Amino acid sequence: MRRNRNVKIVATMGPASSTYEIIRALHEAGADVFRLNMSHGTHEEIAERHRIIRQVERDLDSTIAILADLQGPKLRVGAFANGSEDLVEGASFRMDLDPAEGDANRVNLPHPEIFAVLEPGASLLVNDGKIRLRVDECGEDFANCTVTVGGTISNRKGVNVPDVVLPVAALSDKDRTDLDFVCDLGIDWLALSFVQRPEDVEEARTLAGNRAAILSKIEKPAAVKAFDAILAVSDGIMVARGDLGVELPVQNVPPIQKRLTRKCRSAAKPVIVATQMLESMIESPMPTRAEVSDVATAIYEGADAIMLSAESAAGSFPIEAVTTMNNVAIEVESDPLYRQIIDAQRAAKRESVADAIVAAAREITETTDIKAICCYTQTGTTALLVARERPPVPILALSSQQGTARRLALSWGTKCVQTAELDRFKSAVVNAARAARALGYAGPEDQIVVTAGVPFNTTGTTNILRVAPCDERLIYNTDPE
Ligand code: PGA
Ligand code: MN
Repeated sequence: MRRNRNVKIVATMGPASSTYEIIRALHEAGADVFRLNMSHGTHEEIAERHRIIRQVERDLDSTIAILADLQGPKLRVGAFANGSEDLVEGASFRMDLDPAEGDANRVNLPHPEIFAVLEPGASLLVNDGKIRLRVDECGEDFANCTVTVGGTISNRKGVNVPDVVLPVAALSDKDRTDLDFVCDLGIDWLALSFVQRPEDVEEARTLAGNRAAILSKIEKPAAVKAFDAILAVSDGIMVARGDLGVELPVQNVPPIQKRLTRKCRSAAKPVIVATQMLESMIESPMPTRAEVSDVATAIYEGADAIMLSAESAAGSFPIEAVTTMNNVAIEVESDPLYRQIIDAQRAAKRESVADAIVAAAREITETTDIKAICCYTQTGTTALLVARERPPVPILALSSQQGTARRLALSWGTKCVQTAELDRFKSAVVNAARAARALGYAGPEDQIVVTAGVPFNTTGTTNILRVAPCDERLIYNTDPE
C-alpha cells in the first residue's frame, strides 16, 4: 500500500475487526501495524486473525507488521453472569478468590498476591480508574469495599492498586505460554506490559530469542524512572497512557509523552503513542475536536506511530477511526510548522560512518531535487538511522530479510520492500531505482539517493552513498560493476 504520510498507524484487533473484509479494509484505510492483544480472545481467535492478516498481506502484495501485546502482570476481575453490572456510589462491593461468575454484590479477582498485601483504606481502581473502590475490610481471599466512584463494571476489566507495591513477576505463567504461542505463529513485535526494570525486558528477549523485536510499554511510575536503562535494552517503546494515567496523576502524562518521544527518536528506536486517541469513535463516527488535537500533537512531536485500541477492536467505527488518523496525519505533515518542529529536534551529530552517510543523505535531499532515500539494510539499523533524520522525502528501505521489512512498518516514514541479496553495486542501484519508480516515488527523469555497504549483505557496513538517476540505461552506462 502506498501511503502519503510518515507517521504509522497501529490498529488493535478484536471482535469488531476479525473478518477478512474488515482487516483488509483497515489496511487499505491506513493501518500499517496490527496489534494482537493477548489480554482478550482465545488462542484460536488470535491464530485466525493472524492468518487473515498474512492473507491480506499476500493478496495486496504489501508489508504488514504484527505486534503481539502480552497482558503482563495486569490485574483483572473475572467474568459476570450478566456480562456487566452498574456500581453506584456508596454501595458495598466484594472482590474475592471465588471463581464463580460475579453479580451486583461481588466478583472474582484471581490474584492472591493482591489480597496478601492489601490493607483497609487502600484504593482499588477499576477500568482505567473510572470506578474507585475503598477497601473497608480484607483477608487472604477477599476484600469488602465501598464504591467511592460508581460506573459500569464488566468482564475482565483491569484493576490498579496504586497505594500498594505488588510483588509480581514481570511475566506471568499466561505470558510465558502466550509468548511461545505467538512467537511460533510468527510475529514481528512483542510488546511487554507493566515493565518495571531493564531485567524484565532482558528476560523476555531471552525467551523470544530472535523470533520478535521487543517493545516495552511504559505504564508504571517505576518504568518512567528507569526509562533510559529500559530504552537501552528495548527495540521500541509504547507510551501506554491508559495505565500510566491511572498509576500517576493524569496531568503527569503529557510531559512524560513528550520526553519519551524525544528520547526514542534520539535513540533511533520507534515509539508508539497509545490509548484513548479517538476514544469517542468507539460509539460515534465523528471524533471530538480534543481527540483530533491529541492525535495531531503526537504527530507534531515526531512519534513513529499512533495507536487505536478499542476504537478498532470493539468499536462501531473501526474504518472511520483509521481514516480519521490518516487524514489528521496528512494535514499535520503538510503544515510548514510541522517541518520546523521536527527539524528543531534533530539529534546532535554522531560519529559512526553510517550516521555520517544518513546525515549526508538527508542534507542532499534538502539541497537538490531528490525523490527518495533508498537504503539497503540487513537488520533495519540503517533504515532506523535514516528515519531518525526525519528527511523530507520518502524513505525506501531495501532488505533481503522479510522480518526486517515487516518490523520497519512501525517506523516513521519507512517503506520497506524485500529484495534479493546484493551481488553487484550496479544491480543494487538499478533495483533501488526500479523500486522507487514502482512505488510511484520517482519517474525516469528523477534522481534518488542510494545507500549501501561493502562488503555486501553484512550487517553494520553502510559506507556508500550514490546520487543516482532513475533511468536504468543511464545507470548501466555510468556505474561500476
Ligand atoms: P493496554 O495498554 O491497552 O494493554 O492496557 C495500553 C495502555 O495502558 O495505555
Ligand atoms: Mn496498559
